[in-house]
Amino acid sequence: MQELTHYIGGKHVKGTSGRFADVFNPAIGEVQAKVPLASSAEMAAAVEIAAAAQPAWAATNPQRRARVMMKFVDLLNRDMDKLAEALSREHGKTFPDAKGDVQRGLEVVEYCIGAPELLKGDYTDGAGPGIDMYSMKQPLGVSAGITPFNFPAMIPMWMFAPAIACGNAFILKPSERDPSVPLMLAELMEEAGLPKGILQVVNGDKEAVDAIIDHPVIQSIGFVGSTPIAEYIYGRGCSMGKRVQCFGGAKNHMIIMPDADMDQAADALIGAGYGAAGERCMAISVAVPVGDETADRLIEKLVPRIEKLKVGPYTAGNDVDYGPVVTAAAKANILKLVESGVEQGAKLVVDGRSFSLQGYENGFFVGPHLFDHVTKDMDIYRKEIFGPVLSTVRAKTYEEAIGLAMDHEYGNGTAIFTRDGDTARDFASRINIGMVGINVPIPVPLAYHTFGGWKKSVFGDLNQHGPDAFKFYTRTKTVTSRWPSGIKEGSAFNFKPMD
Ligand code: NAD
Repeated sequence: MQELTHYIGGKHVKGTSGRFADVFNPAIGEVQAKVPLASSAEMAAAVEIAAAAQPAWAATNPQRRARVMMKFVDLLNRDMDKLAEALSREHGKTFPDAKGDVQRGLEVVEYCIGAPELLKGDYTDGAGPGIDMYSMKQPLGVSAGITPFNFPAMIPMWMFAPAIACGNAFILKPSERDPSVPLMLAELMEEAGLPKGILQVVNGDKEAVDAIIDHPVIQSIGFVGSTPIAEYIYGRGCSMGKRVQCFGGAKNHMIIMPDADMDQAADALIGAGYGAAGERCMAISVAVPVGDETADRLIEKLVPRIEKLKVGPYTAGNDVDYGPVVTAAAKANILKLVESGVEQGAKLVVDGRSFSLQGYENGFFVGPHLFDHVTKDMDIYRKEIFGPVLSTVRAKTYEEAIGLAMDHEYGNGTAIFTRDGDTARDFASRINIGMVGINVPIPVPLAYHTFGGWKKSVFGDLNQHGPDAFKFYTRTKTVTSRWPSGIKEGSAFNFKPMD
């Protein structure tokens, strides 16, 4: 049995807590490795190394720091297949999707090559007689990130690339479900020229997370995962005086207007609803056709497409649409929610409950499901399922449809399919959700924009990546300076206007 490690101080370090978690290959349902779960003492050792290494890194000019990012991009491209294979083996997503996971992280690294420009300060020459004023963006010191299982390459890179480009040291606590790719990324960053101790990976569970929250040296925490944990880390982290941003769960609605191109909408729903087995925070999990006639046409288009979906292991390469879900517990939870949907009166139009894949009977595969006539009070509507289950809620009017999305507690992403510009414009302007697609089902913003939801999908003020990341990972310091020749008077006891 392979025993994974931490990556501390530039080397692989065995866990000493004596606690481990199983890492599965979800396609065959077997444990393939065990990952150490750090104690607070192991976390403290990493923090000490980070704090010692950070000042020299902060003093390295931004252009040199950016060159490490440049080289890292090359190495990610060189090792793309290797990274994607390791990712698929632990996560279960298809090989092309795993490459997409690395690619979407890589794009944020590319954005961070612009650090010298993004870290430039402001300067006012002659703010008063002989007085200049300038603002600097300085690193925070030691930052930490806690990431979910569903994007084990992309989300760590969304955090550590800007943090490190800004001159911080970063401690990553990845998901214990798929920790191998984060360890590989830390090695690659050092191969790209990053000094030891600036990026460390400390594996673990709640104990390691609590050690991050409680450690006085750690200045900021980034979290992505489920909403209850996001809320917990945000509350405790803020009360410890840290800068915290936490991104939580989702229930993304797609509204289909009667004038939409129904083939286009159905194709979009298939990719957005079932891609990655629905294990995406930007997956569409609720379809809201407006009008019964639209709903009937949509269901008619969806059913044959769903029945054609190819579910299988990543080793099938391009021949598979989605893979297994991450654990047996995730599978059980999805199937329990499907049962609740049936019991609470929704119509199960495509029933994937008996799905089994020959040769992979022990894998965590879940067949695709489609519900119709779902209502607001049902568990399948209120809760995040995070599986290949699409719920259809029929709305009578556009107002009812937009109201549904607006009333839901989550506000990560949403989409509208229509040919009418006026409706699309109204939707984009009124909706209380962070990321909006117009005839685009998964509107994930690119690296140079920012990513973040509203409502219970986020806790904190700034979004991920883009310019917000450079604000999150720096502190502003403003200097007012006057040289002796400019000092013409004695003491001043009031706030003087600069004249
Ligand atoms: P999770 O909340 O179970 O785990 C996320 C991280 O928190 C992991 O590193 C885990 O070790 C840690 N953790 C788990 N339990 C903890 C506890 N009790 N105390 C402290 N830390 C704990 O989430 P997951 O299952 O890995 O990921 C799926 C969730 O993430 C979904 O809800 C999905 O919507 C969400 N997600 C959100 C975004 C976004 O940007 N909003 C992106 C991706 C995933």
